[in-house]
This record gives sequence, structure tokens and C-alpha cells, in this order.
Amino acid sequence: MQPSMFNVRVPLEDRNEVFLMNTFTDAQLIVSREVSDLPDRVGADTAWPTTLADEEREALSTLTDNGFIVESRATDRRNVEDFFRDVRESTDQLRVTVLTTLQCNFACDYCIQGDHGDYNKTAAKMSFETAARVAAWSEDRLDALTPESFVLTFFGGEPLLNLPVMYYLAERMWTACETRGVRMLINIITNGLLLTPDVVDRLVPFGLNGVKVTLDGDRDAHNRMRPLRGGQGTFDKIVQNVRLVAHKCRVSIGGNFDESTVDTYPALLDFLRQQEFADKLSKVAFKPVIRAKVPQQPKGLIPLTVVGEGGNALNGACMTSAGGGTSICDNCNFIDDKLSFLREETKKRGFPTVDGVHMGPCEIHKKHAHTIGPDGSLYACPGFAGDVPSSTGHIDGRQESRRAAAATRFEVITAWKECNDCAFIPVCAGGCTVAAHTEIGDMNKPNCHKPSFEAGLITLALDAARGANPVIVN
Ligand code: SF4
Ligand code: SF4
Repeated sequence: MQPSMFNVRVPLEDRNEVFLMNTFTDAQLIVSREVSDLPDRVGADTAWPTTLADEEREALSTLTDNGFIVESRATDRRNVEDFFRDVRESTDQLRVTVLTTLQCNFACDYCIQGDHGDYNKTAAKMSFETAARVAAWSEDRLDALTPESFVLTFFGGEPLLNLPVMYYLAERMWTACETRGVRMLINIITNGLLLTPDVVDRLVPFGLNGVKVTLDGDRDAHNRMRPLRGGQGTFDKIVQNVRLVAHKCRVSIGGNFDESTVDTYPALLDFLRQQEFADKLSKVAFKPVIRAKVPQQPKGLIPLTVVGEGGNALNGACMTSAGGGTSICDNCNFIDDKLSFLREETKKRGFPTVDGVHMGPCEIHKKHAHTIGPDGSLYACPGFAGDVPSSTGHIDGRQESRRAAAATRFEVITAWKECNDCAFIPVCAGGCTVAAHTEIGDMNKPNCHKPSFEAGLITLALDAARGANPVIVN
């Protein structure tokens, strides 16, 4: 027997106790220092069953039941292999992210699309014909998988620029799910400018679950970072739109920060706290804007998960929680420090947010999570959408060697296998694959933001010590 490699611990100095967590089982305990030492003692002492006192044996039994002590390192490795296989193969949920258009009505400073004045003239928009094929393809997947739930996410570009396709897909897939006894949920990732009560009212009957809107700092910072194409600010209009719909559906606020805006986020949080809809916000969480390392980028900054090759990449921003914690960047300390800082500031004002530890595995590790571009091309995750060489197939089933080769590359992403004995493997999986692809040109290399996980762990421990619900073992 030996301590699990997935044990992490945070000493709680003022109470002479230790917060223990196992990232594989997600067990969280507050224990005495003596109990926290037990796994190591057991690992070092082959005669341990006979040398322990009764209460130590009892504590050991609790630790073993919660995964803190395992048979061997091989057990840990087998467990995590099985875990990633189960995550990958699970048919509990079918997830389909549809890019209704690549067009956008914003000209964000850090966005590739915003740099091209005529981009919207050429940017793809999903036709009704393609939408019908997306629906038929999704229905086939429902029949093949028989999942418990179907999650349809609308993304872009700005997805609300193609409302007819959104309404069509929502209504048709709702009927398809009703017929099959599948629970359906709709999410929308939008810049918020066209988010009206009418849009929400139209989609609520078809399972609208949540709308994510982006605010890039306080009013001035946001208006500088996310103006209209004519340069006008958008903050007031977006906030007004959120005000009008927040009581109708779950709204979460995201934001992309950089060195020039990060210090304005506390003011944004104060502003949000003062709004009458503050308690209606389902989540508030921010991500870094990152500096491009791809020479073709026309400007120095791109959003978190853009894959910028060939000038036709999207303003893609990962929607998963993992994207918030394991991002592309060239200034890791800044990013990790600021992520922790903003998480704390968000929590201080009472908004639900990510904890910084439970961040993955993200969509790319799930076989039955698909991203579909406006032309029907399939991608492994939203961060790769629009990157033509990364398309893994097409909804019409066409056979193309380049897509087949890409699909094989994405079959099993195993960056975490190079992470040795890192305790965060089950919740990180080696970091964002898009970041690894963009920065180092190898999807199977880790993109590591361990300090961010460590900071999240400390917060989790302090929260637990303040009275959240961990099991107490003395
Ligand atoms: S690989 Fe990166 S961009 Fe893609 S789903 Fe995962 S965290 Fe998001
Ligand atoms: S990328 Fe870093 S934090 Fe993530 S599992 Fe690997 S070593 Fe750990």
C-alpha cells in the first residue's frame, strides 16, 4: 500500500489541521496533522498494520476508502487510464456546438476578424440546407448513442446574427429529443448586443439553459476592447440587455483580460454587484487574452483559444471550464497570478465562479462532443473550429484523407502522459490542447499552468476550513 499520487494537501496553519484532497476521487477531508501523515507512514512502513494504534487504523480505513491510499503506483496509473477512457467513451451526453456564422458585429482589439474590414462579406454563415443536415446528423447520433441528455450550444462569430438557423435547430432538435425521451439543453455564447427578451422567450420552451455574455473589464476598458465596427462602445447596451433577460434564463458573465485591463475588473465586479440582476448571474469567470506566437497574426493579441492559421480562424474562445484554467499564454506568472486574483475578487462579491481546481477534462477528451462549422465541417473542440487542417470530418460523411488523418490525430489526446506524477492529472489532463497546438505545434505536449491549480487548491482548502462541506476526520 502507498499514498496515491493524486493526493494534494494544504496545511491550515491556524487550526493545526491539514486539508487533504485526492484529485482522482475528489475526496476532500480536513484532518489532524497526525492523520495527514498516515499515508506517508504507511508507504514507508511495510509492517504498518501491526504498528498502528486502533484509532490510526480507523483513520487509515477512511483514507483508503476515499482513495488516499492505493495498492501501488500501478493502481493509480490504471485508474487514471480507465478514467480518461470512460470520459472519452461515455454516451451519457451528446454535445453539439454549432457555429451558426463566422460573422461578427464587433471589432474587438484582440480579434483576428476585427482586423479585417471586409471580413463579414466573406465570412461563412450556415444555410438552412446545412442546418437541416446538422439536425439530421444529430438525430442519427441520438439514435446511435441513446444518451440521457443532448446539449446544443450556439457559438460563432456572433451566433445571434443567424437567428433563423438557431430557431430552426432549437425547434427541430427539441422535437427529436422529446420523441426519444432525451433531455435537451441549449446554451448560447454571445457578445450580448442582440440578446433580447424576444430571443430568450423564443428559446426557453426548447430548453434554453444558459447564455454567456462577455464583458472585458469596466465600462471604459470594455468599450476600448470590444467596440462596434464603427468604434462605438457596447458596454451600456449589453448590460441593458442582460438586465432585461436575467430573470428569464441563466446568464453568466465572462471576460478576456490582459495587462492593460485586468486592474479594471474589480470595478466591473463592483458595478455588477450593484445591479438588480446581480443575484441572478449563474457564473462570473474571466480568462486571459494571450499573445500570439503565430507569425501570420496581423495583431499581437488574440483571444484564449484562437487557432490562427491562414487568416480564416475564428474568434474562438473555449466555453469549457478547462479553458479558463489552462490557457495559452507567454507570461505564465502574470496569467496564473491574475487568474487567482480575479477568482478571489469575484468570490468576495458573492458571485458563483470556477474554483480553479475542478477544471477538466474538457470537451476534447470526449468522443461524443462535436463542434460543427457553418459549412458542416466537424472539429474536435470549439478551439479548433475554423482551422481547416484540424477538421476531423463532415456531417455529410464525405471521405477525405486530410480529415481522416486529423480525426486519427484527435482520437486520443494523451498530453497528460508526459506529466509524470503530477497530482492534477485527473482535473487538468495536460492542459489545453489548442494551446499546445498553437504554441508548440504538438497537441500531445502538456500546456502547464500548475501554479493556477495550486492557487485554486489553497482557496478550496480555505473555503473548506471556513465551513464548506468536507468530511472531518480527527
Ligand atoms: S482543448 Fe482547449 S479550447 Fe479545446 S475544449 Fe479543451 S480547453 Fe477548450
Ligand atoms: S499540464 Fe501541468 S498541471 Fe496539468 S497535469 Fe500536466 S504537469 Fe500537471
